[in-house]
Amino acid sequence: DPARTLSVVAIPIAKRRRLLMARDVTRLKRLERIRRDFVANVSHELRTPLTVMTGHVEALSEAPDGDTLGAWRAEIQAVAEQTTRMRHLVEDLLELSRLEGDRRPPPERPVAVAALAAELAREARLLSGPRRHRIEVEADEGLVLLGAEGELRSAFANLVHNAVQYTPDGGRITIRWGAEGDGAVFVVTDTGIGIPAPHIPRLTERFYRVDVARSRESGGTGLGLAIVRHVLARHGARLEIESAVGRGSTFRCRFDAARVRRRAEAEAAG
Ligand code: ADP
Repeated sequence: DPARTLSVVAIPIAKRRRLLMARDVTRLKRLERIRRDFVANVSHELRTPLTVMTGHVEALSEAPDGDTLGAWRAEIQAVAEQTTRMRHLVEDLLELSRLEGDRRPPPERPVAVAALAAELAREARLLSGPRRHRIEVEADEGLVLLGAEGELRSAFANLVHNAVQYTPDGGRITIRWGAEGDGAVFVVTDTGIGIPAPHIPRLTERFYRVDVARSRESGGTGLGLAIVRHVLARHGARLEIESAVGRGSTFRCRFDAARVRRRAEAEAAG
């Protein structure tokens, strides 16, 4: 098989005799490539804002003249934006590496997803601001999810933020939480730009973006859906993505019955 990589070592054991030891290092090579790609991606992501900041800082360091204050303010603003971007990137990287490194299953604490959904909707309205999206919540308050609240919040928030980022002004965003089958679903639907079908299977890869410029411009790190995938996997849940270009997207998180309780049961169980 030409796609496999063998590592061969020859050990002399006697005159004109060698012991050949072969080890299949295909998997090792693949892991090494993934790690190299990842480091290259991170370096590139950090270099871009650093380059932009260097430019602005150079402009700042030139001798002040005329209307300096106004000019400086704009430069400082630009530097602040880039540092925020780098901070978000580093925060997302840390969260991802923590999720990946954590071999223990998440706790099974009851999480009031309906309240969380209402909170995320308020956050989304702030984020939308003058873009005036219509943001609606339909949530079953009697249904709780057993899991790690912080992780789930960050996963659901990523889906809601994406809906705001990738939906034109005035579009509609719906957050839904409810029973389905014997489990439950958390669903975010938008009337946004949509995703061409060939991209859908790759969206949860780290740094994968349909439109790099657009993601950057909106402050995206390219790590959001990778975080979502990890959090869901840890909770035994699946992510389903449906989308139509120019019409909108639906991101559906499906939780098994084992992770879902009626509120009364959860309270009785303490
Ligand atoms: P980003 O920080 O770029 O948003 P994500 O991992 O959250 O990174 O998403 C990866 C890519 O998936 C985005 O760059 C975008 O191209 C696409 N995407 C995610 N959510 C949506 C959505 N609701 N509508 C359209 N495209 C989306």
